[in-house]
Amino acid sequence: MKTRVTDLLGIEHPVIEGGMQWVGRAGLAAAVSEAGGLGIITALSHPTPEGLADEIAAVRSLTAKPFGVNLTLLPTLKPVSYEAYVEVMVAEGLTIVETAGRSPEPFMPLFKKAGIKVIHKCTSVRHALKAQKLGCAAVSVDGFECAGHPGEDDIPALVLLPLAADAVSIPIIASGGFADGRGLAAALSLGADAVNMGTRFLATREAAIHDNVKQALVDADERQTALILRSFSNTARIYRNRIAEEVMALEKRGDVTIEELAPLVSGKRGAAVYETGDLDAGVWTAGMVTGLIRDVPTVAELVHRIVSEAEDLIRGRLAGLLS
Ligand code: NAD
Repeated sequence: MKTRVTDLLGIEHPVIEGGMQWVGRAGLAAAVSEAGGLGIITALSHPTPEGLADEIAAVRSLTAKPFGVNLTLLPTLKPVSYEAYVEVMVAEGLTIVETAGRSPEPFMPLFKKAGIKVIHKCTSVRHALKAQKLGCAAVSVDGFECAGHPGEDDIPALVLLPLAADAVSIPIIASGGFADGRGLAAALSLGADAVNMGTRFLATREAAIHDNVKQALVDADERQTALILRSFSNTARIYRNRIAEEVMALEKRGDVTIEELAPLVSGKRGAAVYETGDLDAGVWTAGMVTGLIRDVPTVAELVHRIVSEAEDLIRGRLAGLLS
C-alpha cells in the first residue's frame, strides 16, 4: 500500500506508532519500524536530554529503518527545557520529529535547517492549517476518541478527518480510534494517508510494560476511559481507574487547583502502573479503542494483520459493492 505518507517517510506500510509517554521506548519503536511502519520514541520519557540521545542510539542499534521522536509541548508539573531536547534531536541527525500539544513554531527554524521532517499532531482544522503554514511535512489529526490529549473541541475522527483533508494539502495521518484494518481502510477513505496508533501498540508483546496493563486493555470495553483535566483546558483521556474517578470527583467540585491534583495525576506516578502492573498506582493513558483490543500479538503480526485486513476490505468488500 503506497500513500503520500509512506513516500514522505520512506516506510513500507501506512502505520505509525503514537507518541506514548513512558512506553515509546527503543524496543517497541524499532519493532514498529522493522515491521515496515514508523516507530516513535518519546522525548519526555527521559528526565534529561542526554537520556534521549541514549534512546536514539538504542533504536539505531536495533533497526536501520526510519523512526521518529515525539516532543510533547503541553503543561508539565516541572519545567522542561524543550530547547535542550530539540538540540539533541538535531545533533543526533534525526530525520523525523512528531510535535504535539502546542504550536512547534519556535522550533521550526532549527528543524528546517537540520532538514528534519516535522509531523505536527493537531486536534482541530485550524491547528492543521497553522502547521501547514509553518512548513510541517504532515499533520497527524487526532480525533476525540484518542488517548492522551484530545484538545477541547471534542470532534471525533469521522468528522475531523474529512474536514482536515478539505483544508490542507500536506499528507494527513489519522489518529484516535484506530486499531485494525477496518480503521485503516476508513482513514484512507476519509482523506488520510496513514493511521497513528498508540493504545493498540500498548497491547503488543514488545511494549515494555507489565502484562497486567496489556490484559487490562484486552478486558476493557470502549467505555473504560475517562476525561480529566478539563478544568484546566488540558483535557486528557485516560484509563478509567480508581485515581481517574478520584480526579473526576475533585474536578466536579469546581474549584480544584492543579497543585491539589498533582499528586494524583503526576506522570511519575503513572509510570509505576507500567512498571508494577498495579492498575491503580496512578493515571495511565488509553483511548476508546480499548473496546477493539482483544489480543496481545507481536508488533509484526499486528502491522501485517492491519495492512492485509485493509487490503482485503478495499479489494474485496468495497470493490465488490461496485461489481
Ligand atoms: P506531568 O507529570 O508533568 O503532569 C501530569 C499531567 O498534568 C499531564 O497531563 C500534564 O499535561 C498535566 N499538567 C501539568 N501541569 C499542568 C498545569 N499547570 N495545568 C494543566 N495541566 C497540567 O506530565 P508527564 O506525565 O510526566 O508527561 C510529560 C508531558 O507529556 C506532559 O505534557 C504530558 O501531558 C505529556 N504526555 C504526553 C503523552 C504522549 O502520548 N506523548 C502522553 C501522556 C502525557
